[in-house]
Amino acid sequence: MSYESQMLEELAMPAKREVENALIKILFKHNGVIKEFGSGQEIVDEIANEFELSNNQREAYLQTVYRKENRIKRSNLWHRLLFRAADSLAKEKLVSRPTSTFSLTNKKEWMLTEDGYDKALKLLDIPISQKYILPTKSYEVEKIIKKLNEKPRPENYNPFDTTKKLSKSTKEYLLRARGFRQAIIEAYNYQCAFCGIKIQSPDNFCWEVEAAHIVPHSFNGRDDIWNGIALCHLHHWAFDVGWFTIKNDFKIVISEKINSLPQNYGKICDRDFLRSSNKNSKILLPKRKEIYPHQNSLIWHRENKFYP
Ligand SMILES: [Zn+2]
Repeated sequence: MSYESQMLEELAMPAKREVENALIKILFKHNGVIKEFGSGQEIVDEIANEFELSNNQREAYLQTVYRKENRIKRSNLWHRLLFRAADSLAKEKLVSRPTSTFSLTNKKEWMLTEDGYDKALKLLDIPISQKYILPTKSYEVEKIIKKLNEKPRPENYNPFDTTKKLSKSTKEYLLRARGFRQAIIEAYNYQCAFCGIKIQSPDNFCWEVEAAHIVPHSFNGRDDIWNGIALCHLHHWAFDVGWFTIKNDFKIVISEKINSLPQNYGKICDRDFLRSSNKNSKILLPKRKEIYPHQNSLIWHRENKFYP
């Protein structure tokens, strides 16, 4: 038995497989991404807490003596165990390594892959159908986000997808839909472009905001960043039914119909659900102009959805 295995046994450290499963669950809890261990002591502690590790177990060091150089290298046993577990998960392609994640997000993080995400749902007894509702990221979804953000903005954009429609149940369709949703809500900083509301569930797990299509799917609207806008549930509905639209200069136009609403309609406390936005105000926009909604999508919405 090696010196390390002996120490693991003596200290009754958790088995590698158990650590792997705990890692997958923690990743899921953190929406699919965690910092690499070297720069994320909170994560290292959080996983240690899962196992209720004692201080002894957390602080045990392995000593390697380098006689030639006359030095002793000390490495933390718990860190080594964690890293080995993560490394095995990466070999099984259940997580992406911080170096590969970095090429997508510029952050050194461990990230669940689609297979890792499936495994997390299984471990947590969550039905697989929830995968398309939950906000958990995956390496594959992140790839789509990067692609959507980096596509060169076309001068004359066609917001309609004229290629053969993918069946709604295919993996590719669902993955694309998740990529679109995540790209949009990140671009708008998790805020409603109309009213600016920004709120998460109390467990910090999901955002209230939704990714709305300007030209909807039912009209073959594309899953492109130029055909999307982040809106809260209420304003998503109001946009889809034509209560308001957006001009090419991104100013909000509200339906005149609002003036004929009965007194007790459309009020949030004493404020009007549409007029609560400033008159002639612009929608909130992403930081980069290249991903602003495209005028061709906006024109279509004004002509086909808006109720003047
Ligand atoms: Zn809103």
